[in-house]
Amino acid sequence: MTSHNRVDHSADHADEFPAAQSEVRVLDKSRPRSENMATNKIECNACPVLCQITEGRSGACDRYANVQGVLTRVDPLVLLKRLDNQSQTQVRDRALPSTPDGEPEKNLDSTTAELFVTGVGAGTTYPDYKPAPFMVASKLNGVDMVTVVTEGIFSYCSFKVKIDTDRYLGPERASIRHRGEVVGHVTTAEYGSQMLSLGGVHHLTGGSKKEGRVTCEMMMALGNKHAVELAIEGGAQLVVQAGRAPIVDGVEEKHMRVGCGSATIGIFAKQWFGQVDEVVVVDDHITGVLSEHQAGRCLDMPLSGIKMKGRKSTPGRYFQVANPGQGWGGTDIANPLDIIEGFDPEYARPGMRLLMTSTTGEHAAWFVLNEQLQPVPATMPSAVQKVVDRIVENCEPSLASVMFLAGAGGSLRAGVTDNPVWLTNSIKQAITQVTCGGAAAYVWAGGGITVMVDVLRMPDQSFGSVPTPAIVAPIEFTMRLDDYARLGGHMDGVRPIDEVIDQERSRSMHWSVEHSSWPLLQKPMLG
Ligand code: SF4
Repeated sequence: MTSHNRVDHSADHADEFPAAQSEVRVLDKSRPRSENMATNKIECNACPVLCQITEGRSGACDRYANVQGVLTRVDPLVLLKRLDNQSQTQVRDRALPSTPDGEPEKNLDSTTAELFVTGVGAGTTYPDYKPAPFMVASKLNGVDMVTVVTEGIFSYCSFKVKIDTDRYLGPERASIRHRGEVVGHVTTAEYGSQMLSLGGVHHLTGGSKKEGRVTCEMMMALGNKHAVELAIEGGAQLVVQAGRAPIVDGVEEKHMRVGCGSATIGIFAKQWFGQVDEVVVVDDHITGVLSEHQAGRCLDMPLSGIKMKGRKSTPGRYFQVANPGQGWGGTDIANPLDIIEGFDPEYARPGMRLLMTSTTGEHAAWFVLNEQLQPVPATMPSAVQKVVDRIVENCEPSLASVMFLAGAGGSLRAGVTDNPVWLTNSIKQAITQVTCGGAAAYVWAGGGITVMVDVLRMPDQSFGSVPTPAIVAPIEFTMRLDDYARLGGHMDGVRPIDEVIDQERSRSMHWSVEHSSWPLLQKPMLG
């Protein structure tokens, strides 16, 4: 069985480490000193770095320390405590409530059935054939369960970041830099959002030492819900933080678009009908033109004769009306009339009313055609303004969402079972549930155990790192105890949850069912 002694989270200075507490069991010693090692040092064996740590000091990752000759995990083990209904009401609207500043919570007033041991602060094992730090036995509806708890060391991991904006952030595949180093790239945009891929094995291991270190630091900060500054080559400067509005070139983004230009036409066509002769919804991807669009045809709107720049895809839907940029609808235009070539006199007539708007309603302008069939700016009628306001109202707040994506399909499995493929298979068969810091993890289809989890659902400060460089993140595998035995699990190491809580230095965090299902009750999310 492997675990380590623990000290208070606040003890991160050499002189402040408290003495190892006698009631805390030391289950795994550090390696014996080599002959060349000073007598006041111990070797940490929790990762491949194998730091030699002087008494009273911590190792390179600040996660382990030498406390009176005992290898000690600095941070307390994080427990999740299920809330009752009253408490849930009190914490509504809070992202993930916690006790202040990692203060260990004593006198837990819950039964063990309401507690879940997470991998945060659990410790890492190395090499991987050693059993995970904790195999925690508990009961669920009278059934014996076990949760295998560890902090995984992930070289293969990344963050996928979704940024709700139609603003152009940079070309697809453009490199993204943090503190001068390349740490990721712009990837395929999604509906109303720009997507970034950050971190990953290529940047952690495939570049210079500095690139690996900076990438690791950036990933840890992002996972721990801190703001991270990023610079996209040929694009924008960003400040990204999980659950917060992104800041693009110094401006906080407010809204994500209601839809593409074509969708916006489809949504609001009926509300515009009778108030306008033409509407153009400017969008970098699909610009919509009401009178030509199927929505306009269904309303029997006559064609306006408008001639658009760009490439016509299908009626009323135009691609590439301008270049991408920071102007209207994610294009580079400041004057919307720049995307209109003119009006066909066969259909157009003086006095025609034209609305041009962006997909967020952030930009909108009203024009009336003069005798030469040129659009002339005019005051927007209140009925039309009302529909533009409705576009704004339908735009959701812009947020940055951060998903942690990691492969646990490798050697980490040996800490769970002697026969790792049985663990993989049991996950695919929904026998074993995977969580990260208690948060439900989506398991990708195919080989291995590739999981994806929203960092906002994980406890604060869930992520650490080691200087190999690699990211340290919590992961838990929960299954029935009899299934664990069948999988070849490390049954000798299974400990009752109340024993773990009694003997380990821990702090508890409130868990809200509004935030996610209780870890033991989560339904598998399998690809
Ligand atoms: S870097 Fe590795 S060896 Fe050094 S203290 Fe941290 S876990 Fe231990």
